[in-house]
This record gives sequence, structure tokens and C-alpha cells, in this order.
Amino acid sequence: MSQVPSSPAKIQLHHVTHLYVSSTNAFMAVQGIDLRVEEGEFVCLVGPSGCGKTTLLSLISGLEQPTAGKVLIDGEEVRGASRKVGYMLQQDYLFNWRTIEENIFLGLDIQGIRNRETEEYALHLLNEMELSQFRHAYPSQLSGGMRQRVALVRTLACQPEILLLDEPFSALDHQTKLKLEDLIILTLRRHKKTAVLVTHDLSEAIAMGDKVYILSRNPGRISSELEVPKTISALLPFQARNHESFSELFHKVWKEMEAAIDGTK
Ligand code: ADP
Ligand code: MG
Repeated sequence: MSQVPSSPAKIQLHHVTHLYVSSTNAFMAVQGIDLRVEEGEFVCLVGPSGCGKTTLLSLISGLEQPTAGKVLIDGEEVRGASRKVGYMLQQDYLFNWRTIEENIFLGLDIQGIRNRETEEYALHLLNEMELSQFRHAYPSQLSGGMRQRVALVRTLACQPEILLLDEPFSALDHQTKLKLEDLIILTLRRHKKTAVLVTHDLSEAIAMGDKVYILSRNPGRISSELEVPKTISALLPFQARNHESFSELFHKVWKEMEAAIDGTK
């Protein structure tokens, strides 16, 4: 019987190990990571500081090459930065001497795809983020949450198929963070993006993700995997946090994470 080949995952990590090597030593940041992210899925990687979360995003984005194993996007091995991937960092890295508009066009300039149509798309995204009126303002005139929204627009303006988010809320106050979580999920669903969010905040991961992978440290490995029930993952993060089964789920995963960190799992 002939077998129908299964379609490749949007992102696949196959036995990925990564060492940081210097002239004096080598440090194993992550080891034996297997991960599959389907198109349109929102996956969260959660784990303590130093467990290799940023390293995994650098590997997916092609900024780092794995020491062993393979990283595939749409079934093809990643060999460098790809236009399919947008990477949003913890810090917004807006240029203070450029206006908001000039900041959101920056990625278009770098990729050599700036034209009237792509500029209009960027401005449309700015409008979706309710920031149109700040088009000619400078970053220093904006709050932390607004700056992160600008950084998101700049990343999405290049129309990546995959969005990598490295602790994008960690510098924000709680209320701003909750609002931004909803806005990001709404925007990514509307534009049908695949996303990987890295966080050390377990409740954020459960509220936002379709799937949550928990990493343990030294070297980073996946210690457990949770598929968030549809009743929760179909909601917006703010509603998800208020769902009656949220805290039970949180406690279950919390225990697993503690066991992972203590090394009892
Ligand atoms: P996380 O994002 O989970 O906090 P990282 O991926 O940044 O973790 O780092 C994982 C481990 O690798 C840490 O112990 C860190 O000190 C180390 N590391 C990260 N980047 C480098 C580097 N460029 N050179 C050497 N070690 C590094
Ligand atoms: Mg990090």
C-alpha cells in the first residue's frame, strides 16, 4: 500500500543540540530538542532564565546554526535568515531619532521591498494597533506598551509567515501586558500567522498558546508538553485567564514545571 506523505510542519526541530563555543570552553545551551509547529499554530516555550529559550528562537530564525540536528521550515533546512521569519525581541529597538512611520518602514528598507503598497500595509497595521495618530511622533513620546506595538507593526510589515516573540511583555506593567496579549493574538489570528512565543511566565503561556512546551535547564531540554484544551485556547488570553478551568490547568502544569526544575522529572 502506498503511503501518503504527511505535509511538512511549518517549523520542525529535529534532535537539535546547540553548543556555544569560545576559545577556552564550550557550553551546551540546549540538547536533543524535538519540536513541531503546524501552520497557524501558536506555540509557547516556557522555562527558567538561562534554559535556552532565546537560543531556540535564534536557531529557528537562522541567526545561529545548530551544532547537531536540523531546523526545518516548510520542510527545508534553515541555513540563514529567511524572509518567512519575523523576530520580535524583548527590547523594542526603535530608533529614537526616527519617527514612528520611519521606524515601521525600516524592515521594508532593509529587505529592499519598500514601495507604496508595502508602506500602505504598514500604515494599515499601525491603524489596527490604534497608533495612527502617532505616525509622525518619536518613540520617546510613547509609553512602553505603545512602543512594543510599534515594534510588532515593524515586524509584521514585512509580512513574515512565522513570528518569533522573545518575552515581548516582560518590561511592561501587568495591565498593559494583558491588553497587549489580546491585541497580539487577535492580530496574529486575523493575519493567519504561525507564532512561537518565549516566556518565563507560565500563565501567559497557557493563556496565549495552543501548545505549551516546558523546558528544563542545563542543558535545556523539553521536559513536558501540554496541549491547551480548545475551550481555553479558542478564547482571547484575558478571557482564558478568567475561565473556570484555567487555574486547575495552571496548577497542574506548575507542578510539572517544578519537577522539571528540581530535576525530579
Ligand atoms: P534563556 O533565553 O532561556 O534565558 P538563553 O538561550 O539566552 O536562555 O541562554 C541559554 C544558555 O546559554 C545560558 O546559560 C547562557 O548563558 C548561554 N549563552 C547564551 N548565549 C551565549 C553566547 N553567545 N555565548 C555563550 N553562552 C551563551
Ligand atoms: Mg532569553
